[in-house]
Amino acid sequence: MPAATACLQVAVLGHLPRIFSYALPENPERLPPGVRLRVPFGQKSRIGILVGYDHCPPEITLKPIEAVLDTRPLLPESLQQLLNFGAHYYQHPLGDVWAAALPALLRQGRPLPRPAAQAYQLTRHEQTPARPGKLQEALITVLSTSSPTAETEVPARLRPVLRQALHNGWVEALTLPAPRVTVQPLPYPLNAEQRIAITQLRATQGFTCWLLDGVTGSGKTEVYFETIRPHLEAGRQVLILVPEIGLTPQLLARCQARFGKAAVAALHSAQTDTERLRIWALAAMGHIQLLIGTRSTLFVPMPQLACIVIDEEHDPSFKQHRGWHYSARDMAIQRAKLENIPVILGSATPSLESLYNVQQGRYQSLQLRQRATNAPLPGITIVALRRQYLQGGLSSDLLNACSETLAAGNQVLLFLNRRGYAPAVLCHDCGHVLHCPRCSAALTWHRHQQRLRCHHCGYESRWPEDCPECHSTALITAGQGTEQLEEVLRQRFPDTPVWRIDRDALPGREAFSAVLEQIHQNQPAILVGTQMLAKGHHFPAVTLVGIVNTDQGLFSADFRAPERLLQMVLQVAGRAGREDRPGRVLLQTHLPHHPLIQKLSEGDYQQAARLLLEERLQASLPPGTALTLMCAEAHQRAAIQAFLEAAKACAPDSLVISGPQPALLERRAGFERAELWVEAPTRQIMQKALKTWLPCCQQLPEARRVRWFVDVDPQFML
Ligand code: ADP
Ligand code: ZN
Ligand code: ZN
Repeated sequence: MPAATACLQVAVLGHLPRIFSYALPENPERLPPGVRLRVPFGQKSRIGILVGYDHCPPEITLKPIEAVLDTRPLLPESLQQLLNFGAHYYQHPLGDVWAAALPALLRQGRPLPRPAAQAYQLTRHEQTPARPGKLQEALITVLSTSSPTAETEVPARLRPVLRQALHNGWVEALTLPAPRVTVQPLPYPLNAEQRIAITQLRATQGFTCWLLDGVTGSGKTEVYFETIRPHLEAGRQVLILVPEIGLTPQLLARCQARFGKAAVAALHSAQTDTERLRIWALAAMGHIQLLIGTRSTLFVPMPQLACIVIDEEHDPSFKQHRGWHYSARDMAIQRAKLENIPVILGSATPSLESLYNVQQGRYQSLQLRQRATNAPLPGITIVALRRQYLQGGLSSDLLNACSETLAAGNQVLLFLNRRGYAPAVLCHDCGHVLHCPRCSAALTWHRHQQRLRCHHCGYESRWPEDCPECHSTALITAGQGTEQLEEVLRQRFPDTPVWRIDRDALPGREAFSAVLEQIHQNQPAILVGTQMLAKGHHFPAVTLVGIVNTDQGLFSADFRAPERLLQMVLQVAGRAGREDRPGRVLLQTHLPHHPLIQKLSEGDYQQAARLLLEERLQASLPPGTALTLMCAEAHQRAAIQAFLEAAKACAPDSLVISGPQPALLERRAGFERAELWVEAPTRQIMQKALKTWLPCCQQLPEARRVRWFVDVDPQFML
């Protein structure tokens, strides 16, 4: 029998179902796993990652690779292991996992830059030009004022002369040592709760997962800072993950105020690809000590990583819901485990998963029960809406409270998680609701742009002339969105500025920052907004918070809706009265006696969350069990039904499967959607079962007529 031939195992970047084999290159030097290769693929060439070596049967002709792009692995072994874990755990192709983890330019095959900090000085023994030109003179002035001069201090217009001078030898370049943090002293003494937490956190050796459970404004950020300070002073690195890009500027500013600018940076999607790659490379060289970022920042190599912080750990934005469905929080915990370092999850409203993990002894809990400034937590009052006259969805109780608050010179924050003017348009004569032609969802009226829009697929249209069912012209809007609230408030309070804060009003980061600046003038004003307002911001002059539509969260088919409602309300409530002015919260509801509303009004997250967790465990829902959704989409309903039935029929016995059932949104962008709900007693059993089951599903003839994927530990019903 002829011997098997050795071959390279390559994860070609992209959504491809398997690893591909290529011939070993001619030169015998062994390439390390983790380097990029350019490989022939079909008619084209593509970028892939060398993930290992194997042997192929001799009858297979292996293609040679085209080029080796790196001399050293792009990611250290621990991160390569993390990606392997992530591909297995979430049942996603390794090539696509790598693609998600790498900066765009590396994915496209660009070389890894070595952006060491450079500086310049006049060469001692070399003569400067006898008769310098204007620009040369300017350069000499710049270089003699501070010597050596950092690259960033040389104005762009002098760069060409600088290059020339380097060439002629009267200026020389030197590489600066890695920048270091410069620690500023704390502006106030820490309180007892903070000190206890810090002492415990600092005592941690190796991997431990901490849950820092502290009410809004309890000074969690200071606890992170004091915990990581010794690491930074010792030259080590720290990673802080935040759920959303909107939260990075303020946290970056705070980090830089405390640790200086030289070794602190943020990575986010508003940066150019070049800038992102530069920061990535600097962190990989150890030249950035404190890195802040959203989800994928988790995969940045940091050779001296000493600790990971996950701020607002309960936030569902940590779960990626397109492509590779990973949880950045859970993957960060896995990274900490692989690197044997501590990880701190912080939140005022921890997820039920994390609370359960504390109960199970997997996480250690630390508590901050008081606000750092000693401001009391706001009181929460229920406003029963039954039979009240409403103006644009606002009760007279809430409107009166607004007047009082403004008269006292304070600000009001009204929360409504619905963009647009009205969430539905219907016919007053026959009751027909205008739907998106491509989705099973009502169209939202955006009056400002004079468009009906679908929030699921982007479909848009004009306001129709008449009802498509009965041709009546009596079309009316139903319900309220933030645009309508803004309008009602402007009429009612003509002399007060009303700021609407949602994605339509403030599409960019700049616009948002500008409004935040206005708000921080602390003049009387009304802020109307969606969840963009609810997260992490600090509005010192807000003393009244109104939750306009509390009931929206009570009737969702998503089993996480009560948890989300609880978190949302307490997070928004936490924006009130954070400094010297006490705050209050009004909850508008039609169901004042609903048990969850009652619990909300008590404002005790811990107690309410414990009850919700008990309910979940009794109902055999996560976190008590492991859940996976198998979702299928196709133009024909029969095709998805056939696939999901066939998949269900070949599932192992350890899985309990219900469905097929229509997805929460039955049709999206012209595709019918249905799902199987797959349960197992534990995550381990789930993992084992999926490993045998999914390859079978892939082989099913029915699989060819649908698009399908699985979402392991889903955070949203789809
Ligand atoms: P959290 O992250 O828990 O919401 P922050 O860390 O943002 O809380 O702190 C809330 C406010 O309290 C900030 O303005 C912060 O500067 C202030 N603060 C934190 N710790 C103290 C302290 N020990 N004494 C006084 N003020 C503090
Ligand atoms: Zn009609
Ligand atoms: Zn649509």
